Amino acid sequence: MDTEEPPKISLAREKLLEEAKRAISGQGGDKLSLSIVIIGHVDAGKSTLVGRLMYDLGSIDQRKRAQTERSSEKMGKASFSWAWEMDSGVEERNRGITIDMAQSVLSLPNRTIVVLDAPGHKDFVPNMISGASQADTALLVVDATNGEFEAGFDKGGQTREHLLLVRSLGVQQLIVAVNKLDTVAWSEDRYNEIKESLGNFLVQSGFQQSKTSFVPVAGFLGVNLVDRLQPEATELEKWYTGPTLVETLDKLDPPGRAIEAPFRFPITNLFKGQNAASSGVAVSGKLVSGVVQVGERVRVVPGDESAVIKLIMADGESLPWAAAGSNVDIYLSNIDPIHLTIGSVLCPTSAVVPLVASFIAQVIIFDQSYPITVGASAELFHQSQNIPVTIVPLETLDRITGATIKSNPRVLSKGMSAKIRVAVRGSTISESSASASHARLPIETFKDNKDMGRILLRRNGETIAAGIILSLE
Ligand code: GDP
Repeated sequence: MDTEEPPKISLAREKLLEEAKRAISGQGGDKLSLSIVIIGHVDAGKSTLVGRLMYDLGSIDQRKRAQTERSSEKMGKASFSWAWEMDSGVEERNRGITIDMAQSVLSLPNRTIVVLDAPGHKDFVPNMISGASQADTALLVVDATNGEFEAGFDKGGQTREHLLLVRSLGVQQLIVAVNKLDTVAWSEDRYNEIKESLGNFLVQSGFQQSKTSFVPVAGFLGVNLVDRLQPEATELEKWYTGPTLVETLDKLDPPGRAIEAPFRFPITNLFKGQNAASSGVAVSGKLVSGVVQVGERVRVVPGDESAVIKLIMADGESLPWAAAGSNVDIYLSNIDPIHLTIGSVLCPTSAVVPLVASFIAQVIIFDQSYPITVGASAELFHQSQNIPVTIVPLETLDRITGATIKSNPRVLSKGMSAKIRVAVRGSTISESSASASHARLPIETFKDNKDMGRILLRRNGETIAAGIILSLE
C-alpha cells in the first residue's frame, strides 16, 4: 500500500467551480470538447469512415498509412485498408469487424472530439453499451446501397437497436452519415428515401429533429468528409449544398455538464502506474458529475475505504483538476488496490453515493423473443457494470401521460412502458454478511443524477428494456 505523504488541495471549492465552468463554456480559450460514439449495422462502413476522416485531418501519418495498405493487400483485404486504421487487433483484422472500443481524437477548428468507435457485430453490443454510456453524441453510419440500408434497418439489423440503446443511455444529438452514396450514383432520391424512413423512426424513438442532422458521404472515397468538392462526386455537387461531415461535427453542442452536483467517477478500468511521478494504482473512466482536484480525499463505493487523488492525467497531460464530462486517468494514494474494482464509484467523503440492493425503475420494453414475467432474470447494465438481477413488473403505464394502466401485470411485452422493481440477485443475504456489499450497487435516482440514474436490461444477448431509476429501496 502506498502511504507516502499525499499532495495538498490547492483551490477552494468555489474557485474550482468557477474555473471549471469557465473552461467548459470555452471562455478560457480552450476548444469545447465532446465525445461521440459511432453506431450502425455491421459493414455500414463505420471504421472506414473514421479511418479516412483521421487521415484527411492529418491524424494518421503517411508512413503508417502505406504500411496498413501493404499489409491489407497482402491478406487480400484491400477494401478494408481504411478500416484497419481503426481495427488493429489480429482477430478484428481477420474477421474484418471492430470488436473493442478504439479511442481516437479529432482536432477540429472549434471542437476536440473523442471518437469511440463502436462494433457493428451483434455479439458485441455489451462493449458498445460501455462506450455509449460515456458518449455525448452519436454518429450513425448507414449504407445507402440498394437493399443494404433495408437489411440494416429491418428486424435483425442493428440500426434500430443501436439507436434505441444510445437514446436510452442519454445521447440526444445525432448525426446520420448516409454512406456509400457512390454505389447508387449519388442519387438524391435514394438519399431522401433513407432520410425519410429513418426520420420517422427517430421521432418515434425520442430524438428531436432540431438535434439530428443528415449528411451524404462516401467514406471510402473521402467524399464530403472534410472537403465537399471532389472529382469523384460531381453528381453530388449538383444537388447537395449543405455542410460536410466535419463542418457538422465542428458545430455540435457540448451537452450540459452537472458540475455543481457531487463528484461521481464510475471506474471503467484499473491499472498500475509505471513511472516515478505516477507509481501506485490508477483508475480510468469519465467524471459523470461534479469536480475533483489533486489532493482531495475520496470514498470508494462499495466499501468503507477512502483514497487521496495523487495525479490526474488526460491525453498524456497532468491536470490540477477535472470536471464532469472529462475522460481521465486518476492515480490514487493511501489505498490498497484490493479495495478497487471495475464498477466501483469514487465520490466525495461528504456526499457518498447510495448503495442499494433493489430499486424501482420506469422502462420501455424492447422487441424480444419472450415477454417479461414476474421474477424474470436479466442482466443489468449500469455505467461500466453488468450484474444479474430479477425483475418484478409493478404497473404498466401510458407511454405519453405516464398514468397507470394496470397494476401487477403478469407479463410485459414489446412497446410497453412500465414500472418495475429490479433486485440484485444474491441481495437477500443479511446486512451483516461479509458478502452483502457485493450484492449491492452504487446508483442514484435519475432525478438526483441523470448519468447514475439510467439503466439497461439485457437477456440472452438481447436488449429487453431501458429506462430510468425512480426510487431506491
Ligand atoms: P464497419 O463494419 O461498419 O466498420 O464497416 P467497414 O468500415 O469495415 O466497411 C465495410 C466494407 O464497406 C468494406 O469493404 C469497405 O471497403 C466498404 N466501404 C466503406 N465505405 C465505402 C464507401 O464509401 N463506398 C463503397 N463503395 N464501399 C465502402
